[in-house]
Amino acid sequence: MTGLMHGKRGLIMGVANSHSIAWGIARALAAEGAELAFTYQGEALGKRVKPLAAELNSEFLLPCDVEDIASVDAVIDALKEKWGTLDFIVHAIGFSDKNELKGLYADTTRDNFSRTMVISCFSFTEIAKRAAELMTDGGAMLTLTYGGSVRVMPNYNVMGVAKAALEASVRYLAADYGARGIRVNAISAGPIRTLAGAGISDARAMLSWQQKNSPMRRTVTIEDVGSSALYLLSDLSRGVTGEIHYVDSGYNITSMPTLDTLRK
Ligand code: NAD
Repeated sequence: MTGLMHGKRGLIMGVANSHSIAWGIARALAAEGAELAFTYQGEALGKRVKPLAAELNSEFLLPCDVEDIASVDAVIDALKEKWGTLDFIVHAIGFSDKNELKGLYADTTRDNFSRTMVISCFSFTEIAKRAAELMTDGGAMLTLTYGGSVRVMPNYNVMGVAKAALEASVRYLAADYGARGIRVNAISAGPIRTLAGAGISDARAMLSWQQKNSPMRRTVTIEDVGSSALYLLSDLSRGVTGEIHYVDSGYNITSMPTLDTLRK
């Protein structure tokens, strides 16, 4: 441990279990000395998050469903009361009805479009606005996105549209808060087997395609994302904001399947 995050306190939103991307990030931050608070969505997930948080010496757990803005406000109030200030936040939250993560994007319903946008995109803006008030000495914010925001991925559908809006939010928030020394970035992760990832139809095929066709010929892990998150949340990236940083074994730079795949 080099203590890169020593003396820094932050909020991790989006741990559901030990496969969650947020968990990979939390572990990387804690290993460098960060002090962490966690939110969980509902008591059933809370029971899973509690022992995980304890592994990282945190007993600071707060319930939060971003569809209920009062619960977001309660989290901010609790952070203010216990810590006073905040150095970073991780927003690793996304949701869409899995019945619409298959078939045609055009079949997306108005209700699910709105819900997906509020949970997966607007919640980051609502949390960023509140967290910024606690970042009195600068800070760093991070959210998670996916390449289906800029290129069409089968079945990703409305989630791709929400991620495009989320990435635009990162740039606008970076501009809003840059002068206050608060940096806002996103990691665009390659497909990883998680609870949310499993909601996308044919997720297994996406993983196998990535493994065969990315320059590095492998999928990424939550540890890969955790290390990059550590960079974006620590002072190592002090000159970086508004960035969408790909952690996808280079898949985003490709324009056709690998010749290995074509020859099969
Ligand atoms: P996950 O299921 O482990 O995490 C998703 C989290 O979102 C869960 O903790 C869940 O409780 C939370 N959530 C959903 N609705 C919520 C609500 N209303 N209020 C509060 N929390 C809510 O899956 P994950 O793959 O670790 O997802 C984390 C983030 O990473 C998501 O934004 C996802 O879109 C993004 N991402 C995932 C992949 C992938 O392949 N798994 C790739 C790129 C980006």
